[in-house]
Amino acid sequence: MAYEHANLAQTNITDKLIENLRKNLFDAVYFGNKADARQYICDQISPDMKVAFGGSMTVRMLDIRSYAHSIGAQVLDHSTPGLSESHRLDIMRKQLTSDLFISSSNAITSSGFLVNVDGNGNRVSSMIFGPRKVIIVAGINKIVHSVNEAFKRIEFVAAPMNMKRLERSTPCSIEGVCSDCDSNERGCRAFSIIKRRPALTPTEIILVGEMLGM
Ligand code: SF4
Repeated sequence: MAYEHANLAQTNITDKLIENLRKNLFDAVYFGNKADARQYICDQISPDMKVAFGGSMTVRMLDIRSYAHSIGAQVLDHSTPGLSESHRLDIMRKQLTSDLFISSSNAITSSGFLVNVDGNGNRVSSMIFGPRKVIIVAGINKIVHSVNEAFKRIEFVAAPMNMKRLERSTPCSIEGVCSDCDSNERGCRAFSIIKRRPALTPTEIILVGEMLGM
């Protein structure tokens, strides 16, 4: 019974969030599981496209990259292992003019705002302008009540986990929480709040009823 209640509560939250995202001029859809979400995204990819990835663990979990690669689409993924620094930079610049940019969001507020932090700025800038279309895919663990809570999620969950994953020598990699550090390796440099779909960027939010990413 508790499980049914939890599902009902989740359904109400996601229905309301989809409604609010649409009010904020985003396209928005909900899928109960990542397999269906993956299929929906893959159906939008064709061989003639340049498909860019924002270095998201959520997108990695959906393994969309392998599909794009398998059909011959040009894959622009700066987190591909073994890239030289200049090649990595080149890919990040090309992401800005891709046909489809796929990323997650660090947090999505229940009012339908996207809240993010970025170290280089390539991810947040590509989310706002440049690509012909942006897809943001996020699990229900990314939903928060407010912008304030979104920043708390970034400070206490997303950024420390990401810094640890990237093996950065930042205080949060060790302590697990943010101390608003002065480290040269600090990854939290460019913050963005997208309150409405950027005017020139078709943006689709795909919400998935599972825990995905960080
Ligand atoms: S500001 Fe520094 S300590 Fe805080 S999450 Fe970012 S990298 Fe970690």
